[in-house]
Amino acid sequence: MDDRVEDVARLADQAGVALLHVGPDMLITLANDAAHQLLGKRPGALMQRSVMEAFVDHRVEEAILRGAAPGSGAIEVDGPAGRLLQIRLRPDGTRAGARWVLVEDVTELRRLQRIRTEFIDNLSHELRTPLTSIRLLTERLSDEMAALELPERVRDRVANIDVETGHLVQMVSELLDLSRIEQGATTLHLDDVPPLELLEATMARVRTFADRADVTLAVAEPTEPVPSIRGDRERLGQLLLNLLHNAVKFSLPGGTVRAAAGVNIDHVVLSVQDEGIGIARADQARIFERFYKTDRARGRSQGGTGLGLSIARHIAEAHGGSIRVESEEGHGSTFFVTLPAAGGPVSRAG
Ligand code: ADP
Repeated sequence: MDDRVEDVARLADQAGVALLHVGPDMLITLANDAAHQLLGKRPGALMQRSVMEAFVDHRVEEAILRGAAPGSGAIEVDGPAGRLLQIRLRPDGTRAGARWVLVEDVTELRRLQRIRTEFIDNLSHELRTPLTSIRLLTERLSDEMAALELPERVRDRVANIDVETGHLVQMVSELLDLSRIEQGATTLHLDDVPPLELLEATMARVRTFADRADVTLAVAEPTEPVPSIRGDRERLGQLLLNLLHNAVKFSLPGGTVRAAAGVNIDHVVLSVQDEGIGIARADQARIFERFYKTDRARGRSQGGTGLGLSIARHIAEAHGGSIRVESEEGHGSTFFVTLPAAGGPVSRAG
């Protein structure tokens, strides 16, 4: 036995971290006490056993063979006694094909996340009914006021109530959307979606908003054939709408927002680029969190809930895709969404 491996496993035990070391032959060279405990095995029972025996889930074996877990880099498997275990892999830099496997009990974390999501879901439902009434009453009040002699400030106040209620209604409906997507309650209706058609159709939905903001919208001509996306047309439309809406909202008058579709191996990459205020480096990692708004965005008065990008990220990930941003403050931002192409791999032209 490699002394170094034993030392690391012992150290991990002291830190309460469950750790296994797997050789290139898929046999467990070493598992510390914490790992035995989490996997419900007697001390020492995992030594020289196969990965399949330890985790009883083929995804762990596949990920070790491939050298990495898919997507976010973690796999969740059912453990003993109804526990939920999260598995992460790290290469053992000193031995080719050998891996460290970290195991973490995420049962409680997932339970709390579920409670939070259910709470938001219930709350949004409860808020929706009275809000809808307030909205209708405000509209009726505005209509009735039209025929009356009233000071301008009274009209302004009612108009403000209408605008703010609109924001609240939007926030509640985005919260509901987000909690449904998070719970996996929205099943995706998969279809072959032509990307350019999707871009054009979604742009049409923000055209009035863009005209009002004096922002030009353009779809770039693709330089190579782009396959269809395997995805849910409505959800993808919602994702793009959020990106385009933001792009216009954070543009300066006279600016242009460009959308494009391209190919990357077996994925379609959609991009939305603006020439607007940009996003500081420190904010770039956080804008996909729910309710996160940059200070500069708070200073602008276009409203917004801070939920749009969080929803966009969930939709991309529900498709097995991803979203990222490139931006420089004062020089605009580009959002890239990578989504699976329909019909498997396509070769890159050129
Ligand atoms: P919001 O409803 O506030 O737009 P989002 O989740 O869509 O919520 O965006 C979160 C924050 O990210 C925004 O408040 C803004 O600070 C920043 N942001 C998003 N898109 C852009 C963009 N195209 N340019 C500059 N900042 C942006």
